[in-house]
Amino acid sequence: MSKVNLLAECSKASRIAISAHIRPDGDAVGSCMALYYYLRKMLPDTEVKVFLEKPSDVFSDMKDFEDIDSSFAEEGTFDVFFVLDTNKERLGGAAKYFETAGKTINIDHHISNSAGCGDINVVEPHASSTAEVLFGLMEEKLLDKDIAKALYIGIIHDCGVFQYSNTSPKTLEIAAKLIPFDFNFPRLIEETFYQKTYLQNQIMGRALMESIRFMDGRCIVSCVDRKMMEFYGVVPGDLDGIVNQLRNIKGVDCAVFMYEIGLMEYKVSMRSNEHVDVAKVASYFGGGGHVRAAGCTMKGTFHDVINNLSLHIEKQLERR
Ligand code: AMP
Ligand code: MN
Ligand code: MN
Repeated sequence: MSKVNLLAECSKASRIAISAHIRPDGDAVGSCMALYYYLRKMLPDTEVKVFLEKPSDVFSDMKDFEDIDSSFAEEGTFDVFFVLDTNKERLGGAAKYFETAGKTINIDHHISNSAGCGDINVVEPHASSTAEVLFGLMEEKLLDKDIAKALYIGIIHDCGVFQYSNTSPKTLEIAAKLIPFDFNFPRLIEETFYQKTYLQNQIMGRALMESIRFMDGRCIVSCVDRKMMEFYGVVPGDLDGIVNQLRNIKGVDCAVFMYEIGLMEYKVSMRSNEHVDVAKVASYFGGGGHVRAAGCTMKGTFHDVINNLSLHIEKQLERR
């Protein structure tokens, strides 16, 4: 895909909107805010808005975090609409802006969205994060501390602080260009990525305790239902990290974590270490993601869901 000139694409616009996927993660929030700062700085006479489902409070230290519109009450249309870190299917309340926008620009790194959904598409499946793709589209001399910090948040959240296999030399080179902007990166990593509240740790403990291993311990699954979430007083965002903790267990290649989002309906997260292509499994059930991290939504009981998933996971593991 050819390089897109972000500022030229926006030069005639008087209203621009930016959005990313529902249940926004660090990459979704970081990418949206980085682009928001960049466009506002370079196009001061243009109205720029960010629409996102309410992000976790761990990101609230970002500049102008309170500008994020999670109400989707705005009824107007936009000249340019940016879809970041997703295809148009997971825009939630912001989908209406996509439909009515003059021009749509999709910037992403999901292999399951390789065609892109916009009039203009920059989808780089080998990039660690959408923030990494965005860095490539921004002029380096125009970056500042807030943009750098937002891009850094996006990158570290999607590559597990440079641990996951999506970390490339390029990812590290970009990080090396960002940290001289002098934001407090050790603290940022600690407070947005590793730190968990007491309740988040408690429910993680519960999920680990009640996990079930199968395929000789090569797979593990755990499930949190609504009753359990109510008992601990947690919301879906508090469950981030559980699937990674499951994947961390010695001998495990594929970890599945699910939580109830409706009656007989589960949000499924999958992670693998080396062998299972979880994007393939998730895509089969209408979801998507990356080879080592993917997700989908599935209907049925916990046992229906895990039986359906394990069929596909086992097929891949047996083929080895
Ligand atoms: P999660 O397990 O929700 O943290 O997601 C892991 C990866 O898969 C992330 O890159 C998500 O953006 C992606 N993903 C999760 N759910 C879906 C879905 N329903 N459709 C497409 N991609 C998804
Ligand atoms: Mn994301
Ligand atoms: Mn991402």
